[in-house]
Amino acid sequence: MGTVKLSIVAPCYNEEEVISEFYRRLSDSCLDAVPSGEFEMIFVNDGSIDSTPQILLDLTRNDERVVFVDLFRNHGHQLAVSAGLMQAQGDRVMLIDADLQDPPELLPDFMRKMNEGFDVVYGQRISREGETTFKRSSAALFYRFMSRLSSPPIPVDTGDFRLLTREVVEQLNRMPESHRFIRGMVAWIGGRQTPLQYERASRFAGETKYTLSKMVRLAFDAITGFSDAPLRLAIMMSVAATVVALSMIVYVIISFFFFEPAPGWTSLGIIMLVFSAVQLFCIGILGEYVGRIFVQAKQRPLTHVRAIIRGGTQSKHGDT
Ligand code: UDP
Ligand code: MG
Repeated sequence: MGTVKLSIVAPCYNEEEVISEFYRRLSDSCLDAVPSGEFEMIFVNDGSIDSTPQILLDLTRNDERVVFVDLFRNHGHQLAVSAGLMQAQGDRVMLIDADLQDPPELLPDFMRKMNEGFDVVYGQRISREGETTFKRSSAALFYRFMSRLSSPPIPVDTGDFRLLTREVVEQLNRMPESHRFIRGMVAWIGGRQTPLQYERASRFAGETKYTLSKMVRLAFDAITGFSDAPLRLAIMMSVAATVVALSMIVYVIISFFFFEPAPGWTSLGIIMLVFSAVQLFCIGILGEYVGRIFVQAKQRPLTHVRAIIRGGTQSKHGDT
């Protein structure tokens, strides 16, 4: 294979209903974006338990440009994308979801925008179709919260639908963190970044693979990975708690000397509840960070790759 001008990285988890259609629309747009055909489409099977791997295997037999990265188990979207990024050989790399929520037809637009000299062109959603009000409002709230917390700020209403230069991809591949929040990592890398606004379509078929618990985990990874403000929050809360405690002491002393003393157990109960809540919360925050240090200290490989099929032939097993 000669030079690869564009790599596509698409994570797939139980997407048997959408992959064929996704592949069809994606390869058309790739040809529009790179008419010479010097592109590769990397599909990462994130431990699917349906027929996704078989469908992908068939694609590799019929199309040399399909690269199939088969992970040992489900690692989640962010790690699946990371495993794909490690295999990408292109001068530019496009991250895209396999469920057709990110329209592949925008590829030529992304490429043109990057020609203006940008390092990153990120898709910014101006609308989201076919998602629940809960998903939309929790996402909107979260993006705004995150962009205030993190430094440098992460642009609001962006997902991982984006085009990156080789330089940015290599930088990403050099970042060893196991709890990955790719859009935050890209913001951290910096360079010349610009949005490309688009309307987020609804899923072509199937259901969201981002369960509530996966969303919450991503949110925690984002906050703890990109901000130490929660650590300071713990200190601020303990200061506030001290102030409350001091004024309670003053109140008890004054009422003891000048009024009817308040019945002891009520205030005691309240104080105990309030303080144990605060303490538990702070311990919880510490736990979030310590847990991540623990995982990172183990220095495990991010994922384990069972097989890579490129240009129709299977290459090594290995870690990424
Ligand atoms: N995905 C994955 N591993 C997971 C969950 C999701 O590789 O554990 C993939 C999924 O197949 C899709 C993309 O990540 O291509 C985005 O997931 P999904 O559409 O379910 O999330 P949503 O768009 O609802 O946030
Ligand atoms: Mg989706």
